[in-house]
Amino acid sequence: MATGKIGVTTENIFPVIKKFLYSDHEIFLRELVSNAVDATRKLKTLESFGDFKGELGDMSVRVNVDKEAGTLTVSDHGIGMDADDIERYINQIAFSGAEEFLEKYKDTANSIIGHFGLGFYSAFMVSKKVVIRSLSYKEGAKAVEWSCDGSPEFEMHEIEKADRGTDVILYIDDDNKEFLEQVRVDTLLRKYCRFLPVPVISGKEQEWKDGKYVDTDKEKVVNATEPLWTRKPADLTDEDYLRFYRELKPGEEDPMFWIHLNVDYPFTLTGILYFPKIKNNIDIRHNRIQLYCNQVYVTDQVEGVVPEFMMLMQGVIDSPDIPLNVSRSYLQADQQVKKISSYISKKVAEKLDRMFRDNRAEFEKKWNDIEVFIKYGMLTDEKFYDAAGKFFLLRDISDRYYTLEEYRTLVEATQTDKDGDVVYLYATDRTAQYSYSRGAEEKGYNVLLLDGQLDQHLIQMLESKLGKTRFVRVDSDTPERLIRKQDEKNADVSPLQADLLTGIFRSQIPAIDNTNFIVEYNSLSAGDAPATVTQNEMMRRMKEMAAMQQGMNFYGQMPDMYALVVNTEQPVVKKVLADAVEALETEVGPLRAKVDSDNSEIEKLRKEMDSKKEESEKKELRDKISEIEKEVGDTRSSEEKLIADYASEQPVVKQIIDLALLQSNLLRGEALAAFIRRSVSLL
Ligand code: ADP
Repeated sequence: MATGKIGVTTENIFPVIKKFLYSDHEIFLRELVSNAVDATRKLKTLESFGDFKGELGDMSVRVNVDKEAGTLTVSDHGIGMDADDIERYINQIAFSGAEEFLEKYKDTANSIIGHFGLGFYSAFMVSKKVVIRSLSYKEGAKAVEWSCDGSPEFEMHEIEKADRGTDVILYIDDDNKEFLEQVRVDTLLRKYCRFLPVPVISGKEQEWKDGKYVDTDKEKVVNATEPLWTRKPADLTDEDYLRFYRELKPGEEDPMFWIHLNVDYPFTLTGILYFPKIKNNIDIRHNRIQLYCNQVYVTDQVEGVVPEFMMLMQGVIDSPDIPLNVSRSYLQADQQVKKISSYISKKVAEKLDRMFRDNRAEFEKKWNDIEVFIKYGMLTDEKFYDAAGKFFLLRDISDRYYTLEEYRTLVEATQTDKDGDVVYLYATDRTAQYSYSRGAEEKGYNVLLLDGQLDQHLIQMLESKLGKTRFVRVDSDTPERLIRKQDEKNADVSPLQADLLTGIFRSQIPAIDNTNFIVEYNSLSAGDAPATVTQNEMMRRMKEMAAMQQGMNFYGQMPDMYALVVNTEQPVVKKVLADAVEALETEVGPLRAKVDSDNSEIEKLRKEMDSKKEESEKKELRDKISEIEKEVGDTRSSEEKLIADYASEQPVVKQIIDLALLQSNLLRGEALAAFIRRSVSLL
């Protein structure tokens, strides 16, 4: 019999382990079963090299619960340990200063386990006493029993043990009785050990008998030792992949396609990634991809290991090269992990490229379900953007698809503006912007449909990447002015006519919450609408961006700004204007003239004031100016009132405005009802 102190420098590491690892204490089972599996594989390896000549026998790992004895036992028939091994591997914990270390990394305690050879000691998170009974495979080895009750002292002596291998017996403490329930153990084994490469047996198969489930004599194997990703892609059918998916993600819709990853240089990685259908609703759940290390489940928190946009995929990745047992920030900075991440990204791009080239029609059909994924990738991963250039598709409002290159060729000739920028017109809502799109198409333009959640970001990215390219929404201007081919010809109106035009229309725009209008006029063609509502592309984008980001609230709260563009060439508008001139000229004309003369007087006084040195003289002039300014204001108000009174008697003005509002979905409620009444009475 030997006793001794466990080689940790700290007085008592177990309370520390228990305290810091409390929330993750269930992982003890993963650690112990992995150790058992490792020991089993090591023996198989020794045998294959001829270094072990004995009988391998049944190599299953067993997890037994004995509720009465209060124990949970993990047994294997692997290489076992003799007294020296236990001294070296169990008693000498692989590092010093454990407590200090744990203190520093307490948030990532789960990661520390295993990495620093603490795996076995996680048993103390749930046990008041742990016993190891082991017989080494080495010839003439003596079986030993080691036990420890959670103090740094252990006890070790020789025993009789017939079969080779190790039993680790946990005397479960009072706080953790749940681990004496077979159901609970089953759940954990399913989570962590489902794909381990050695059969793991726990409990018995059950059968339905006399109205309940009862144990049979048959032992229950909890794992599949050869999960799909470990097999050769050439040996697998689509059905195999689908079956595996359904097993991983029961109840989910079948995926669209998948990628079987298989690399052994410069790192080892296998895995299967599935593409689920992604509608316009990005939902990066962080549990879609499971990470395994040699078939041992490690985590489903894969941030930093796979590129962010891949988190939309589902499946498994298995790599012994990912340093799993370290903190996440360390993981993200790790060069190896970066390589893995860019490798996966490259593979995915290759797969998409192949699909596109092999069968474009089929690819286009899938586009709506994968575009979010591809766009997300392009936005977040530079390399993926470059690779995606070949298969990224733009869709127009007639559901035709173009690669970036094809689209350029299509629109370059017709949609280049006077500054040499190619203008990509787009709609964000096929129905709501229908008439604007029609207007653009009638001008021979093509209109894209960019109605996805990421499209605003994508537009910005494409503008900067493509160069000499502007995206302009179809309703941001009148069809003529969407793409300015030459400098504008100004509408041919006198100052009086201009005042009348803007005054008449501005005064009749119905009030809409948090929305402001300015009135512009423009000489479009006679066949165009009398008025159109447009929203400046820049202003709109600013607001949209603000809505997506926090901290830009200022823009978010700004009212929506629209322009009502009145077409001075349109016959009805012409008539409105001519009638107004006739009706108002005699009254408005003099007011207008007074404003003009007052303004030039102000101008004159300002100049005079600037030339004066004396403050008293300056003041006198300043007072005079403000007096005239007030007068101008008053004259303006009377002018506006005159115009507004007149305009309110012109149903045709209201009708023109309402039609424009209607076209841009701004006519609602009360104003809409008034429009309908008026329309009926005009019939
Ligand atoms: P790690 O597995 O990370 O090395 P552990 O604390 O889990 O750390 O185990 C320490 C060592 O103890 C293992 O590397 C192995 O050599 C030995 N060991 C643990 N469990 C077994 C077992 N069931 N059979 C044989 N050796 C074992």
